[in-house]
Amino acid sequence: MAKIFCVANQKGGVGKTTTTVNLAAGLAQVGQRVLVVDLDPQGNATMGSGIDKRALELTVYDVLLESATIAEARARSEKAGYDVLGANRELAGAEVELVELERRERRLKAALAAVADDYDFVLIDCPPSLSMLTLNGLCSAHGVVVPMQCEYFALEGLSDLVNTIKQVHANLNPDLQIIGLLRVMFDPRITLQQQVSEQLKSHFGEKVFDTVIPRNVRLAEAPSYGLPGVVFDPASKGAQSFVDFAREMVRRVTTM
Ligand code: ADP
Ligand code: MG
Repeated sequence: MAKIFCVANQKGGVGKTTTTVNLAAGLAQVGQRVLVVDLDPQGNATMGSGIDKRALELTVYDVLLESATIAEARARSEKAGYDVLGANRELAGAEVELVELERRERRLKAALAAVADDYDFVLIDCPPSLSMLTLNGLCSAHGVVVPMQCEYFALEGLSDLVNTIKQVHANLNPDLQIIGLLRVMFDPRITLQQQVSEQLKSHFGEKVFDTVIPRNVRLAEAPSYGLPGVVFDPASKGAQSFVDFAREMVRRVTTM
């Protein structure tokens, strides 16, 4: 049975998609069967996994509207080593269309149940909002991975997400918990980042992952080649940190 994780943070540009595709590639490298679900209409996780979002006939949109199953809509990224349930601009319409429908926040969960035995990990890349799409992700997941930059307002920005997760936990998905906070784009030379990192650890304790993802230009370059950084330049510091993170996730899951 797959363990299902949302990669979420209501802020844009904090490293959600980079974390999703590189964690997926890292997990694949250590022998895990992985599905990436792209829940962002921008389709960055789809493209960053080497799948052309414009060429997809079926996407997560069709799955949410129940006109296709995941088995029908998923695509294989041979280079990245995992499967992708892709997204494109069409998904932006789902937000409005879902409001009218029954079980609107549980549609992804129902669809994932049918493929749970095909995977060890399902990673859901969420859009930068606490929308119906993100809600579908949170309702489906066992846990949330929160990538964050160690900046001045980092802790403050987390409170909306933490409150949403608490509400979903209480009302819709009793399995849901924050698995951990992942420090990304970290630059140890910047004193402020070290200070915020220490604050995070004193505030959230064990919930802060041991692995730290450094700021690394190869991770930023990889998407333009349609590859996760882990595959694009395996020797880079960024790639190696994501493989370390994949191992840490495998360890955490065995104690869940
Ligand atoms: P989000 O999905 O939260 O909007 P992205 O993963 O797309 O964020 O990251 C935002 C930008 O930062 C992208 O251009 C990405 O390539 C870059 N980026 C993300 N993580 C790193 C990193 N560790 N080092 C350097 N650049 C990064
Ligand atoms: Mg993104």
